[in-house]
Amino acid sequence: MQPNRFSVAFAAAFAITVAACSDNNSGPAPQQPQPQPEPAPSGLSLPESQRASSWYQNGEAAIARARDVVINNERGAAKNVILFVGDGMGISTVTAARILAGQLQGESGEEHQLSFEKMPFAGLIKTYNTNQQTADSAGTATAMVTGVKTKAGVLSVDETVARGDCAASLQRPLTTALELAESLGKSTGVVSTARITHATPASTYSKVPERGWEYAAPEGCTDIATQMVELAAGDGIDVVMGGGRRSFLPQEVTDLEGKAGKRIDGVNLVEAWQSRYQDGVTNALYIEDKNGFDGIDVASTDKLLGLFESSHMRYEADRKNDVAGEPSLSEMTAKAIELLSKNDRGYFMMVESGRIDHGHHASSAYSALTDAVEMANAVQVAMDSTSAEDTLIIVTADHSHVMTIAGYPTRGNPILGKVVTNNSRGEPEPGVALAADGMPYTTITYANGLGHAHYGSSADADDRYEDPVSAGRQDISASDTESPGYHQEALVPLGGETHGGEDVGIWARGPGAHLLSGTNEQSFIFHVMAHAGGLIDR
Ligand SMILES: [Zn+2]
Repeated sequence: MQPNRFSVAFAAAFAITVAACSDNNSGPAPQQPQPQPEPAPSGLSLPESQRASSWYQNGEAAIARARDVVINNERGAAKNVILFVGDGMGISTVTAARILAGQLQGESGEEHQLSFEKMPFAGLIKTYNTNQQTADSAGTATAMVTGVKTKAGVLSVDETVARGDCAASLQRPLTTALELAESLGKSTGVVSTARITHATPASTYSKVPERGWEYAAPEGCTDIATQMVELAAGDGIDVVMGGGRRSFLPQEVTDLEGKAGKRIDGVNLVEAWQSRYQDGVTNALYIEDKNGFDGIDVASTDKLLGLFESSHMRYEADRKNDVAGEPSLSEMTAKAIELLSKNDRGYFMMVESGRIDHGHHASSAYSALTDAVEMANAVQVAMDSTSAEDTLIIVTADHSHVMTIAGYPTRGNPILGKVVTNNSRGEPEPGVALAADGMPYTTITYANGLGHAHYGSSADADDRYEDPVSAGRQDISASDTESPGYHQEALVPLGGETHGGEDVGIWARGPGAHLLSGTNEQSFIFHVMAHAGGLIDR
């Protein structure tokens, strides 16, 4: 924990007061001739051309905006808390997504700002797990939602629990921000494009020593999907939307897209969820496709369970190809906020863009970046439909990936393109640059993973797993590296690209947002949410 800047400022003010009091006790001081202060130097004046520069003008405007930002330290000032997690959305991903988003709008790209980059506060987060230098999503999500770092692979149990140890996990559960919000009568929501039983969303409601126990667990422990349906805090989660139907359906049941359930205990958890809320008063709605989503009547819906895919939902770029149709992350975010806002006590919600991570693992920067852009769209929806006076919005990532932005591409070069460099006059050199091996290279590459492949216009990055590893340099002269089916080169051959261990960014707006500036442990995020949201009675 770093020292609190406000207590430092308070201590300094206190010291001055003490000094003034002791002066009063020592009687009037003899008059001494006061030395005249030297006139302050007038300083340099800037050339007119410098002051007229748009960079200079933009900087002055930014100072004016920053001075107007309201800092609210009051405990409980955030009636609503929304935590956005871009799974695997490291700093290089944010930079590349920003450039892509700008270029999709016909701009050069580098100067573009994603929605959350306009928030007044940002900082850095240290992501390591207690037993792993480069983190996994289970340990990191647990840190964010419980305030306690833990091991990789475990969900909302502490670091004393060995991965997979059922008995130990029952002894060391951690209470989550979502449970605290429920216990205070607030509404709660969990939205993800991944399976809703996947590590990041599951951290909010389940406690297991093994993230893989999504639909089955050893004797004595309860699987993740069942824990969601049976969550005891408050009246359970109010809004759930994502993928992962298979964890809720028995093996004998086939869903509307023709996929079988995974449960071996024969329990239909969709029916169990519906019957939990059959009290004649509560209107609990289960939906599983875009038509169902579009038909939601917000006013009459008290509980919502939306499971739009057997496993993970589609990549955003591939969403149009879904069999039954599914909503986008920004559409789900908008609907969730509408539903949760009906509660006067406020709400807590986690929104995860779960497939940025999966795009990277498959060495598809196209999929990762287009999902990151859609995540920024979802954040914009949240910023537009809430007030900075009573809603804390936090945007961060659980961990990074080993994607790099490299070479010296000229300004405005397509971020997914081959590198075109500048000549000695600083102007674009005609044609693509060639590496020492005589072949072109892309701006984006991966340090490890499955490596290069090209599946034409397919936007399903998971195609990559159908072919073997092909690490190292490839001749991509004839490849359209900006097309959806292009997978970048990788240096170290691995069965999947890995997470990256460097810090991730955090951006925030609303009460308590300023507390997230600086470099902090990932577990600190919970403490800001708990303080600003008044989730813990101190
Ligand atoms: Zn991952």
